Amino acid sequence: MKYQKISIVMDLLGCPNRCRHCWLGHAPNPRLSLEDLRFAAEAFRPFCDTLEVYDWSREPDFAPDYRERWALCNALSTVPARDHFELASLWRLARDDSYAPWLKSLGVDVVQLTLFGGEETTDWFTGRKGAYQDILAAVDRLLAAGIAPRVQAFVNKRNLPELPAVEDFIRRLDLEARCRDIGQEFRCFVHQGSCNGENRRFYPDWITREDVERIPPYLLEKTLEHFGAAAPAEVYGLPEAELYQALLRDKTVKSLGAGLTEPVLYIGGGFTAYPNFGEPSSPAWALGNLKTHGPEAVLTALAEDKSPAQQARATVPLGELARAQGDPESQRLFGREDYIEFLLNGYCMA
Ligand code: SF4
Repeated sequence: MKYQKISIVMDLLGCPNRCRHCWLGHAPNPRLSLEDLRFAAEAFRPFCDTLEVYDWSREPDFAPDYRERWALCNALSTVPARDHFELASLWRLARDDSYAPWLKSLGVDVVQLTLFGGEETTDWFTGRKGAYQDILAAVDRLLAAGIAPRVQAFVNKRNLPELPAVEDFIRRLDLEARCRDIGQEFRCFVHQGSCNGENRRFYPDWITREDVERIPPYLLEKTLEHFGAAAPAEVYGLPEAELYQALLRDKTVKSLGAGLTEPVLYIGGGFTAYPNFGEPSSPAWALGNLKTHGPEAVLTALAEDKSPAQQARATVPLGELARAQGDPESQRLFGREDYIEFLLNGYCMA
């Protein structure tokens, strides 16, 4: 078994936040070592032409020695000159004034920051006091380093009334003009996220069409621009009732593992491996344990749809998933693929 490329994304240290929408779940922060990372890299190396290694799956650059870790990941990867993602550590941005210039030196021009409303609401949704103040500090440090902050806001019925506070934040900090001054365009967007992981708890508060009409016009316009969408439905999806009816007649099944040429594997603190789709912390998506089962068994489980969730998707027709888990009356908005994943996760949890 040999893939063109395998990416390993290993959760060495976890995350300082406990976001209430986190799709990766709230597992305790692990304390894995660089030796563990080397072990995982060497375990998968014989199974691919190109290997890519990341030392985080939750908060990037959370470790104080993030520069050395970046260098080690590059050394372990077959492609050393990799781009740093536009995701960065909010924790570190607010506490280490050399971090933003380091990101810029790696070619990072934009970093995404996440708001949920005003200070109290953002702290509550991020799961820690001080998150909002960290975002304020991060904005200044990013701009000083020539990096544009991009604002993402999650929305459900609970925090919808707080969206004007997100617009107020953008205007108060003059982000349009300050990004222009560094030669960047300011971007922001509002979305509901996928209804998986911790965010599944917000299903009762999931947005409906009337809620989209209550998104402040500036934020809605920027959202459409960000996604290149002509209408809100392209971003926020269709009512569950419509998707449910369409899926009821659908007899198809799908293998998620067959035909993958460049798998991305999440490896948790206990060495359990997951694919980078579904819920990479739920037993339903577990592919096996790297230490006890070994890399070949993990890759075989992925390719042959052996995890309970992959097996369900490969054998249970979509219409049956909808009948078992969907709500024919619900007006909650979903994209089609997000809705299928929501149904599948519910089916596996039942
Ligand atoms: S969403 Fe990201 S920052 Fe928030 S708890 Fe999850 S991994 Fe951490």
